[in-house]
Amino acid sequence: MRYHFRMPSNPITAITFDAGNTLLYCDPSPAEIYAEALSRHGRAVTAGEVEPVFADAWAELQARTPPGIDRYNSQPGGEKQWWGAFLREVLARLEHEAGWRPLLDELYAAFSNPRVWQVYPETRTTLAAIHGRGLEMAVISNWDRRLPEILDGLELSDWFRTITVSASENIEKPAAGIFHRTLERLGVGPEETVHVGDSPLEDYDGSRAVGMTPVLVDRTGIFAGNGYRRIASLEEVLALLD
Ligand SMILES: [Mg+2]
Repeated sequence: MRYHFRMPSNPITAITFDAGNTLLYCDPSPAEIYAEALSRHGRAVTAGEVEPVFADAWAELQARTPPGIDRYNSQPGGEKQWWGAFLREVLARLEHEAGWRPLLDELYAAFSNPRVWQVYPETRTTLAAIHGRGLEMAVISNWDRRLPEILDGLELSDWFRTITVSASENIEKPAAGIFHRTLERLGVGPEETVHVGDSPLEDYDGSRAVGMTPVLVDRTGIFAGNGYRRIASLEEVLALLD
């Protein structure tokens, strides 16, 4: 038995999902999209050069808001300006000469396009199977306000009774409030709900703290041995329900 934790004995009636790197992922990678855009606005850069800078800039922007505080509303001008601040960090670290304003418009449009977002091979079949078992489903995501449109474009929205997005709620995972609001909309209690996500802090610890059953999506096995209830692929959640 690969699972170290038993599921709760009470029946599970609902499953909530994180979005990014849980249900869907970006392909081409964000670094590839940035590298391509930057290269059109000045010095050519490769995704390989952007990748480490991207990670550092992300960490820097994350650090500006404590966990649970909505990052996108923390910035004057809202989510687009949060991405503007992120972009300026990337440009500064690369010492790249591109003007950030036109670049921001371009990148913002690029990531709004559902075509850069791909669903994992097992996403649709797993959601259909869970639906077939009569369980309710919802999304709880630390995303900006564009997520519902992206999920629509990927034809995923209909599976979910509610889609809770941090930028619209003004609160982020791992804060309890974003989980509580979603449970309320689903009309279920935390003890009958599983939350599935790829972030140990935002998804696993956050949902566990409110009494939900957390499941960590760990596709590459990097969290092995850390005591998490892990799945390598979404469909494994079905076995956990049996
Ligand atoms: Mg995620």
